[in-house]
Amino acid sequence: MSLWRRPAQLPAALFVMAVTLGAGVTAQSTGKKAVGASASVSDDAEFARLVKGWTTRPEFSSPLVDHLPKVAGIPSPKDILGHHIGEPKKLTYYADILKYYRALAAATPRVKVTSIGKSNEGRDLVVVFVGGDESIRNLESYRKYLAQLADPRKITAARAAEIVAKAKPIYHLSGGLHSGEVGPSEMLMELAYRVATEDSTLVRQIRDNVIVSITPVADPDGRDRNVDWYYKYGINETEGRATGAGVPYWGKYVFHDDNRDINYSQIEMRALLDWYLQWHPPIMHDLHQAQTLLYTFSGQAPQNPNLDPILFAELPMMANFEMAQLSKYGMPGVWTHGYVDMWSPGYLAFMSSNHNGMIRMYEIQGFSGANTQKMRLGNPNAAPAAGGRGGPSAASGQAPGPDAAAITAGRSNQAQREWFRPWPATGEFDWSLRNNTNYGETGVLTALQYTAAFPKVILENFYQKSRNSVDTGRKETVAGYLIPGGQRDATRVAVLVNMLRMQGIEVGRSTGEVKLKEGTFPAGSYVVKRDQPYARLAKILLEKQVFPADPNLRTYDDASWTMGLMSHTDVKEIADKAVLDVAVEPVAEVKLAGTVTGAGSTVAIPHYGSNNMVTLRFRLKDLKVQAAEKEFKQGDITFPAGSFIVSGDLAKVRSAIEALGLTAVALPAAPSVPMHDLDVPRVAMYSTWGNTQDVGWVRYAFDTFEIPFDLIYKDRVRQGNLKSAYDVIVIAHQSGGGKRLVFDIESRGTPIAYKKSEAFKYLGMYGESDDITGGMGIEGVAELDKFVKAGGVLVTLGAASFFPAEFGLTPKVDAARTSAQFYSPGAIIDAEILQPEHPIFYGYDKKLVPVRYANGPLLSVQTGANPFGDAPPAGPPPIPQGVLMRYPGGDDHVLSGLMRGANEIRNRPAIIDQTSGKGRVILFAGNPCYRWQNFGEFNMLFNTLLNYNDIKSEPQKPATKDNPAR
Ligand SMILES: [Zn+2]
Repeated sequence: MSLWRRPAQLPAALFVMAVTLGAGVTAQSTGKKAVGASASVSDDAEFARLVKGWTTRPEFSSPLVDHLPKVAGIPSPKDILGHHIGEPKKLTYYADILKYYRALAAATPRVKVTSIGKSNEGRDLVVVFVGGDESIRNLESYRKYLAQLADPRKITAARAAEIVAKAKPIYHLSGGLHSGEVGPSEMLMELAYRVATEDSTLVRQIRDNVIVSITPVADPDGRDRNVDWYYKYGINETEGRATGAGVPYWGKYVFHDDNRDINYSQIEMRALLDWYLQWHPPIMHDLHQAQTLLYTFSGQAPQNPNLDPILFAELPMMANFEMAQLSKYGMPGVWTHGYVDMWSPGYLAFMSSNHNGMIRMYEIQGFSGANTQKMRLGNPNAAPAAGGRGGPSAASGQAPGPDAAAITAGRSNQAQREWFRPWPATGEFDWSLRNNTNYGETGVLTALQYTAAFPKVILENFYQKSRNSVDTGRKETVAGYLIPGGQRDATRVAVLVNMLRMQGIEVGRSTGEVKLKEGTFPAGSYVVKRDQPYARLAKILLEKQVFPADPNLRTYDDASWTMGLMSHTDVKEIADKAVLDVAVEPVAEVKLAGTVTGAGSTVAIPHYGSNNMVTLRFRLKDLKVQAAEKEFKQGDITFPAGSFIVSGDLAKVRSAIEALGLTAVALPAAPSVPMHDLDVPRVAMYSTWGNTQDVGWVRYAFDTFEIPFDLIYKDRVRQGNLKSAYDVIVIAHQSGGGKRLVFDIESRGTPIAYKKSEAFKYLGMYGESDDITGGMGIEGVAELDKFVKAGGVLVTLGAASFFPAEFGLTPKVDAARTSAQFYSPGAIIDAEILQPEHPIFYGYDKKLVPVRYANGPLLSVQTGANPFGDAPPAGPPPIPQGVLMRYPGGDDHVLSGLMRGANEIRNRPAIIDQTSGKGRVILFAGNPCYRWQNFGEFNMLFNTLLNYNDIKSEPQKPATKDNPAR
């Protein structure tokens, strides 16, 4: 019989046909609309009628979602929200979404809402459970079963089989991670209601065999801001009359990168991780919007080889089932493969794969609002779009993943039939929010159908993957990792260990000296043994990333993230199996207690590169703090250049040092080395309105390390007089070159305001403007130039360093771009410090340091040599004035990840210091504050702030006949 209708609802004739055809009844053979249209006393007739009207073509719906039960006493979304899900021009604010789930939970024992924390702006973060009465009543038992399967060391295989027989998989669904992808958060309310109330065979099976858990909105702060923006601007958009700008902020800091937050810096992502480690859902499914019409992730190449082979087989299995089922229902445009790969472990739902579960992901066709809009799909005979983000490039003969720009521009190849896209959507049609709901909900119900059909397989696989993780850790070459005790800066070691612990990775502290083939390490070293359930994740995070040697392979996001290199922390890969038996005490969390030894009225704090040094300076902002310009010794302690010397209010100094986990020595007198005052700078951070995300990561770092700053925009820059207000202006990496930074969002004549009002109370946060278009313009450039010439320090990071070069603030600096052949999605490479005593490098003790390559400008400084003259003399080229750090370049200096064409960056400056008038511009070609990852580089930026008025520049070399000035 039909799976999606209970027999009682079918008219007799259709029921006979359905029974005859069996569960595999097809839309085409029966006419699914006939099935779907069958009236039922217990179905909501109004829903069926309205939803049919909102669905722009019959094939954009399915018999799973064209009806909705009406149950006395249980509120449907309409009963609470006032409208059915998917009504054009209707989006739901987060408070109303919560209101709905809570009303549903209050009305049925099949739904339960649990709080898991608060968002940055104080909204309740929840997980909603939906399942059979028994499942929800015994949730805690089911939680424990999964926790037992997650750690196979504690149970026998026989016991595991017993647990599998009793357990149920939790299938976690998450919407609204990206606030402009609005549909899934609407759809999930209807799904929850349907799973709780519908009496079809399909839904009953789901309810009996699966526990559904839901993150209604992963970024609720962004949701409300985006809904505000939609009601203010989007709702009035018609074809050919778009607003011209999206809302400048979603969440507080990182916009779209909440799906790249590999170290769970953002509070919302961290809350979900904490929940995950309690509940262990074997499947986590993120619902996004981007692709035509529904893309279902199946983990294409490049695949991280550390993950279990079972996973790589499970993913396409489920994706193919969805593709087949939706095709059966007559829904075109469902595809898999060819888009996102399985390389970076930093996507949010990867928390599941990283812990032996399964990440799943959809990209459903949709818009950032709820208007019905025209879609024009590409020509099926057109050549594949070039320059995909994931998988093989077009050159390999396989279709590349189309990029978002190509899709919007209608250049996508998604109209093409492929082995992974058996029925592409083509042509021109209207697309509505309800279409999005229909596709998303049909897909999810189908995924749940699969899970309900094979619940034991899912659970066995979860157990087996966990067990394999422990076993392979015992067998494979890498037996563990050791983080030696006694490293110069203990604070970054603590950060690293705590990040591993946060992800559930077991870390032990050695009780005695550790003797291994790799060396002898002191007691107190941290040991990560690979015979543990999350050993795969430990290896993924700690090892060097070796990208597959396929010259055509590209990756969707970062190619590398090696934590030791990113944090400049020594991490040893250990092959000696003896590491598995090293005596350790388990580490819950590293809490460093700082110390002040010695006696005296002057406290010296050695600068070992701790990021807490900058925090200390700001916590002691009322005290005089100096930096030693040369190394000095006190007893057997060496204080490197940059060490802090503080006097006055010793109690305050001591407690600040202790709280920050730093070490210090009280001295009878100040050391006799040259010193300069670390004046507290007045800092501004400049942001465009069109690109707030990378600024957000730097803001997050500044907030976390307690660096006060003003976030300023074009209006403040144009106002001028910047030097009277600020000592340092930081322009964070913002994609695009100098022109984009200066001209930003193009004005279309009508101002676009980002301001709080009675009606739109979530706008105007983190800055406001009557018009976010137009950029700082040339007037703004002139003001920044005046700021520098008057003595200010302008710091540009990554792609923002195109700006001073292209707009003449640093006339001797040129900024070029890499060639089309160059490709480096975030490699970790060597950088060479050329002026070790420069204040920017306080705390760094090596000449070569690992840095993340940011695809910023290829900088150069004119040396004055005649560019049209003779060939340059033999031997190494001279280092131009002001170049503080450079990239040695070449393949030998790629430490982790992927860089094709590494010779292109050979000897290119990584940091340049240029004087201008009384001030200076410091250009970073890289991004020293990237996505809460490259902690080892943060200090170069922090040192720049603290030493802003003590940076010394070598005098210009006079022009000579051989070295002409320009
Ligand atoms: Zn998304």
